Amino acid sequence: MLTVEEALNRIVAETQPLESVMRPLSEALGLVLAEDVVSDCDSPPFDKSLMDGFAIRCSDVRGPETLLQIVGELTAGRVSDRPLASGEALRIMTGATIPQGADAVVRIEDAVVDGPNVRFTCGPVAVGKSIFRQGESMRRGETVVPAGRLLRPQELGLLAELGRATVRVVPTPRVAVLATGDELVPVDQTPGPGQIRNSNETMLRAQLGRAGCDVHSLGIARDNEQELEAAIRKGLEFDMLCLSGGVSMGKLDLVPATLAKCGVREVLHKVFLKPGKPVWFGVYDPPTGPRRCIFGLPGNPVSSMVCCELFVQTAVRVLAGRTPPQPVAVPARLAVPHSHRDDRPTFIPAFLETTANGPLVTPVAWKGSADLRATVNANALIFMPAGAREYDAGTKVDVYNW
Ligand code: AMP
Ligand code: MG
Repeated sequence: MLTVEEALNRIVAETQPLESVMRPLSEALGLVLAEDVVSDCDSPPFDKSLMDGFAIRCSDVRGPETLLQIVGELTAGRVSDRPLASGEALRIMTGATIPQGADAVVRIEDAVVDGPNVRFTCGPVAVGKSIFRQGESMRRGETVVPAGRLLRPQELGLLAELGRATVRVVPTPRVAVLATGDELVPVDQTPGPGQIRNSNETMLRAQLGRAGCDVHSLGIARDNEQELEAAIRKGLEFDMLCLSGGVSMGKLDLVPATLAKCGVREVLHKVFLKPGKPVWFGVYDPPTGPRRCIFGLPGNPVSSMVCCELFVQTAVRVLAGRTPPQPVAVPARLAVPHSHRDDRPTFIPAFLETTANGPLVTPVAWKGSADLRATVNANALIFMPAGAREYDAGTKVDVYNW
């Protein structure tokens, strides 16, 4: 059986980033840039004042008694119509263009206005004081945001400064979610004898939505080949299809065989972990259009949720061009002793908190893969290697945010 690492590597190897598209800046938050953005201008575009104060020539200011003549006022968005001459000071506001001849700005707090004149209490002034020079932040021709960069508010602000109203990005993956099982009823219905509500659909939708996917529900397919096949064929129109249930060893676990019938190639079935061992992954290459990724997640809610976090999110990151695609563990110390005994590596729901002594993690009471309720007390998964071991409080463990 594949290890988690081998499974992740196979998923990464078989998944391809989506083809890039042009998008308005207002729709690009959280997407990955698919072009190098080169600045076509200097920033700032002109020498500008960083303070409200007086533009002066430094050589004019010899001491606190030097009086300069106030020759006018310049607010942001305006340009002086003549150079500043020796002995002159020009009132200037933050953002205004430094007039020719001036080489510093003295802030208003250091100025004493005396009728038509001004003197300064700050002593000698250094050349360039309170001036943001043209191109100091960014030069024309420089690559300022490289391809592959995740677009956050700061990148978007910079692209806006450059006048890039649209940018080339990797689009949001379109994902279909399909729940399977004769026992399932929709969330707004009351289950009859032996039935349960379809909670996985809501949970998976939320996990995928939080990862930035455009999620579509295909409802519930009953455990029969015809219904399953029809729903799967619809799901294969999306970049990714996530099924829940029907991948184990039960009599009505029809998902792998039905996917095969629909032309989906199996890449992996079963991974050596807990919860989530029955997980299934395959790919489908339609006659036209990009490759689709298909996950068959085990029906038990915690298995479904853990497999979505580990495996599905990895494929989502590849589709969306994000790096690294694999989940990243952070080290934390156990807050309490913990006894672990399992023949499989296990991801244990836990509560992770930041303390003055660094990250501390506490396993939550958990009754296994069907115990969804326990996950409400958890915000992390602790990775415990296979085997039997007593862990002391303070032991360093690998943790995944959840
Ligand atoms: P399966 O993987 O289909 O054998 O299902 C394993 C367990 O998960 C069974 O107890 C199912 O009733 C339960 N289950 C399957 N699908 C869902 C779902 N969509 N929501 C909640 N529980 C489910
Ligand atoms: Mg089932």
